[in-house]
Amino acid sequence: MVLVFAESKNGQFKKATFEAVTYGKQTADILGVECHAIVIGSADNPAHLGQYGASKVHHINNNALDHFSSQSYTAAIAKAAEIIGASTVIVNHSSTGKSLVGRLAVKMNAGSVAGANHLPEIKDGVFTVKKNVFSGKAIAEYKISSKNRVLSLMGNTLKPEVTGSDAPVEIVDLPVGESKLQVISTDLQQGTVAPLPEAELVVSAGRGMKGPENWGIIEDLANVLGATTACSRPVADTGWRPHHEHVGQTGVAIRPNLYIAAGISGAIQHLAGVNSSKCIVVINKDSEAPFFKAATYGVCADLFDVVPKLTEAIKKAKA
Ligand SMILES: Cc1cc2nc3c(=O)[nH]c(=O)nc-3n(C[C@H](O)[C@H](O)[C@H](O)COP(=O)(O)OP(=O)(O)OC[C@H]3O[C@@H](n4cnc5c(N)ncnc54)[C@H](O)[C@@H]3O)c2cc1C
Repeated sequence: MVLVFAESKNGQFKKATFEAVTYGKQTADILGVECHAIVIGSADNPAHLGQYGASKVHHINNNALDHFSSQSYTAAIAKAAEIIGASTVIVNHSSTGKSLVGRLAVKMNAGSVAGANHLPEIKDGVFTVKKNVFSGKAIAEYKISSKNRVLSLMGNTLKPEVTGSDAPVEIVDLPVGESKLQVISTDLQQGTVAPLPEAELVVSAGRGMKGPENWGIIEDLANVLGATTACSRPVADTGWRPHHEHVGQTGVAIRPNLYIAAGISGAIQHLAGVNSSKCIVVINKDSEAPFFKAATYGVCADLFDVVPKLTEAIKKAKA
């Protein structure tokens, strides 16, 4: 059995969760087993997960689990996996999933791969799964020979697919001990369309912007596209933009469908966090800028000329 932890926020499932359930269903098909989902805490319409391939949803709604704690969530998921006989557990590679994958692997005595981005294969009878390594420069293949496996799934690995109908939901009363960890407060990032790790469209800018006062044209482009804004590291380091927007090796690693980079040179440390984007558009006035080598489309021109024109063209096309 494959068990997918269906992450939700304020009761709503994230797109990445539908991806994880789709991935879980396809993994279950490869293994010739069923795919179930586990929901923890309040969630609107857990049955809906059936549409993405879960044949049953286990819903744990227990007061001790109202707030996320990696200890108690790990205990709950591992216990549920044991009860229903799931040997493969899948979580999102989100901050929540990242804090669960290692703990779950220990608890379940499982082989684990954090950040898988391909469907597993069975090679010579061994469960094999791939992930990007060395900042996306190479792909590593992991063979998991243990009975239990835990995977966290990189966002945007596949498209969520509706293949079925609503699934039966079983309310599970799982006694979970008090967590030794307590979340005192959560500081939520405000105002962005989608948080960077989940964004499908990203408009990013670098030192070529000359100063924070010029960011209006980047925000206009992002608004018209419904995109999230990002930046290079020196831009965040000098306080032109908030640190949570910094992408790259030492910032957030992203895999959007579209990454527009204006006035960013494309240093290796920047590319490390963005080169898995599906389509990269580079706007730079220096034809020798290294970013052009990684670009799907390159515009060699002054960004202060191109970006407003691009915004206007998109506005017109949308109208
Ligand atoms: C250990 C380490 C970790 C690092 N981690 C990161 C990281 O995570 N993320 C990251 O981004 N960087 C990181 N860096 C920094 C990285 O090496 C680069 O210095 C940085 O990415 C450069 O930022 P930039 O492209 O915005 O600026 P610059 O390198 O100054 O490039 C500005 C670009 O804008 C172009 N430009 C200027 N004016 C215009 C205009 N009017 N129109 C169009 N184009 C214009 C220029 O041609 C140039 O290519 C790291 C460095 C180290 C040593």
